[in-house]
Amino acid sequence: MTLQEIRSLIRDVPDFPKPGIVFKDITPLLAHPAGFSATIDRLAERAAGSSPDGILAIESRGFIFGAALANRLRLPLQLVRKSGKLPRESISTRYELEYGFDHLEVHADAIEPAGRYLIVDDVIATGGTAAAAARLVRQQQGIVASCMFVLELSFLNGREALGDLPVVSLLRF
Ligand code: AMP
Repeated sequence: MTLQEIRSLIRDVPDFPKPGIVFKDITPLLAHPAGFSATIDRLAERAAGSSPDGILAIESRGFIFGAALANRLRLPLQLVRKSGKLPRESISTRYELEYGFDHLEVHADAIEPAGRYLIVDDVIATGGTAAAAARLVRQQQGIVASCMFVLELSFLNGREALGDLPVVSLLRF
């Protein structure tokens, strides 16, 4: 399956969740077994070069791609969650939303010092969410091997928020 075919399985939903936002709806891609599988194949190919030790998937649509990728690569999967969802001792970092702040958290024992982690999410927009996940890795002396996304909204310059970190996106809009 070509990248163009994968791209055709992502639907634009104008004015969701509010006026002026074009929401990238990945549900048609998830509902297409060949398309979903090809997406994971391509993420797996791109991940190989960074020799990761584990995957950090970002709530919530990042869980879908991160889990499939971890399973494909036979890597440990860790969950980066919104505040208050993780049951055990966690570390936390504050990040900016369009209006206000929230926290992202990971279990305190999820990240091995000097371990190399892939951060996975469906979409990179401003990059604030992935940058917060990267801070969690560094707080535990881990290394961000790469930040991986199915889709990049290039006009929002999310890569800049990630500084020198390697960024991989399959599709650019
Ligand atoms: P950001 O922190 O601005 O890079 O936003 C990334 C997070 O917001 C990801 O978890 C995405 O799932 C979600 N997101 C942001 N913009 C969109 C969009 N236009 N369509 C779908 N999801 C989006």
